[in-house]
Amino acid sequence: MNGNNDNLKTDLNAADIEKIDREFVWHPFTQMSDWEKERNLIIERGEGVYLYDIHGNRYIDGVSSLWVNVHGHNNPELNSALKEQIDKIAHSTLLGLANVPSAILAEKLIEIAPGNLKKVFYSDSGSTSVEIAIKVAFQYFRQKGPKYKDKKKIIAATSAYHGDTIGSVSVGGIGLFHSIYKPLLFDTVRITYPYCYRCPYGLKYPDCALHCAKEAEKIIKVHAEESCALIIEPMIQGASGMITMPVGYLKKIERACKDNGVLLILDEVATGFGRTGKMFAAFHEDVSPDAMCVAKGITGGYLPMAATLFTQEIYDGFLGKYEDNKTFFHGHTYTGNQLASACAVKSVELFKKNGILNKMKPVIKRFNELLKRFYDLKHVGEVRNIGLMAGIELVKDKETKEPFAEHERIGHKVILKAREKGVIIRPLGNVIVLMPPLVIDENTLETLCSVVNESIEEVTQ
Ligand SMILES: *Cc1c(COP(=O)(O)O)cnc(C)c1O
Repeated sequence: MNGNNDNLKTDLNAADIEKIDREFVWHPFTQMSDWEKERNLIIERGEGVYLYDIHGNRYIDGVSSLWVNVHGHNNPELNSALKEQIDKIAHSTLLGLANVPSAILAEKLIEIAPGNLKKVFYSDSGSTSVEIAIKVAFQYFRQKGPKYKDKKKIIAATSAYHGDTIGSVSVGGIGLFHSIYKPLLFDTVRITYPYCYRCPYGLKYPDCALHCAKEAEKIIKVHAEESCALIIEPMIQGASGMITMPVGYLKKIERACKDNGVLLILDEVATGFGRTGKMFAAFHEDVSPDAMCVAKGITGGYLPMAATLFTQEIYDGFLGKYEDNKTFFHGHTYTGNQLASACAVKSVELFKKNGILNKMKPVIKRFNELLKRFYDLKHVGEVRNIGLMAGIELVKDKETKEPFAEHERIGHKVILKAREKGVIIRPLGNVIVLMPPLVIDENTLETLCSVVNESIEEVTQ
């Protein structure tokens, strides 16, 4: 102790907070020279689907605080679960010790996951859950026998986003975020993620008969001998701009992986926990992955936590005498943290108790209707969604699909306009993302959509 009590100050006003944020915090995915110039919002509290800033202004949380919030903010039941746990213990290690809530959570996750997944490996972010899937897939084949010695590569999709650590960036494919790191990344094999609005093959669904899937099947087959796994965001690619897959594509990828001895890793970090209207996106096409990454919504949006789920077969491939060196030597310090686990247990229980997936059905139906209205706007090229994950792609010219230039920052302008009207959203380039908490009601959803509709109109007219 240095006898200085300054860090306990509770009497800071809004201007003070803004000042110290500006001086000391480097914000993620943020050009800080803009941040230093702009007036920035400081959130003080949340309630249900609303966020409140330090001045008491209320905003609809239109992107679930970056795709994580499920049951609303300041949820009494999640709060109690946390309070109950914190009076017992906040954290003990999962390295060589078990703990109560992480064991209970693992059973619950396996209960709700695709049927063949049997084992849960914890970590603390979506990125780490992907690293784990990649390392396990690689090591699995190293240990399977000399016949598989060439299986070293990962097959990934174009424009994929799997996180920001070096391994997850290696399988990522978003030029703006990833290209500078190329010298640091490992080599991957690429399949083309379908993007029907701007089909890379110049075809039209359904006449195309899923040509993209056939091309992917060929690549999987050709590279099977040197590839241990394929990783993909199921049903919808998030960060690339909410790009939805045509029906049938994922099932074909699964088939091709199984036929060619390539493990299928589904990255459900964004899509998991009800976001697409089903508990996991894999259920839309009845797909059984060999590994599944989950994070964002796992704690209902309260605490950082992630998990990678595996089949019994993969798990068994790591069993042996200690000196055989088949141990998975990997583990993040806060793995299986009790507070996060207790919160996640409660969140999964609330899905059942509150019938979340059923309650979402009419809301999603209404959302689909509201989204159609965006097509009336002059600069809306395509509106894509699955469940409560939606992207509105703005274009300069509807006929030619010419995009707005990057420097116009049209998405950024729209979200600032929406903010003036009491809605917080965050764009992905020229795509406006809407992803409200799963508990949003139809009226609030309507307000969210009409504010965003007006904001797009005012900014692009
Ligand atoms: C957000 C996201 C990640 C990364 O998760 P972090 O918790 O930010 O590391 C990985 N994959 C997908 C599909 C995501 O949307």
